[in-house]
Amino acid sequence: MIRIAEIFHSVQGEGLLTGTASVFIRTSGCNLRCWFCDTRYASWEPEGDQQTIESICAQTAAWPTRHVVITGGEPMIFDELAPLCSALKSLNKHITIETAGTLYQELECDLWSISPKLSNSTPLGYASAEWVKQHDQRRNTPETVRRLMEKGNYQLKFVVGSILDAEEVLDYLQSIGSYDRDRVLLMPRGTTTEELVLQSSWLTNWCRDHDLRLCDRAHIHWFGNKRGT
Ligand code: SF4
Repeated sequence: MIRIAEIFHSVQGEGLLTGTASVFIRTSGCNLRCWFCDTRYASWEPEGDQQTIESICAQTAAWPTRHVVITGGEPMIFDELAPLCSALKSLNKHITIETAGTLYQELECDLWSISPKLSNSTPLGYASAEWVKQHDQRRNTPETVRRLMEKGNYQLKFVVGSILDAEEVLDYLQSIGSYDRDRVLLMPRGTTTEELVLQSSWLTNWCRDHDLRLCDRAHIHWFGNKRGT
């Protein structure tokens, strides 16, 4: 059984597959507590029922869409993620797993979408001292990210809210060793078009100057910061 917050049909708004029609399976529960989390109903205050793999696959198959995005929360906390991926592969689905890259599992996945959390994610003043400590102990795991990258197709997405954050991305990239620059994406932090435009006003030039890719959060422009999109 896997706790599911929602399953919905939409268009991928982030990363290399931006614009791709996809079914999103949002698992509920997370081992981190980023203060800026925009899916708190799947992390800080997890919602949803435990569901069987058969039920999840049946709901996914309701749409004739090849791409499936397993997101969260943190999908990698579930032991049954591997059998779910096997079941989805038997339905000929293309699987993207969106993860913070703190946990490892052997499973079938077509695109590892890894979003390592920087020091700007610490929930200081937002969560209990115990959660602040756990978050900081768990968030920075470059060796796990490296293992996931070695599985094959990957992208590294970083949420950036200041030049200091962007500079920290450079340090992070150094800590993981070799990587493909075309697969590194810097996303402005924000949950409204106004915030994203403001952040992008400096981040665009920063990415140009550092030969890295800017990645908008296009679903915010298309749909707003709404559940089920
Ligand atoms: S890792 Fe993702 S889902 Fe978990 S708290 Fe951070 S932003 Fe939210």
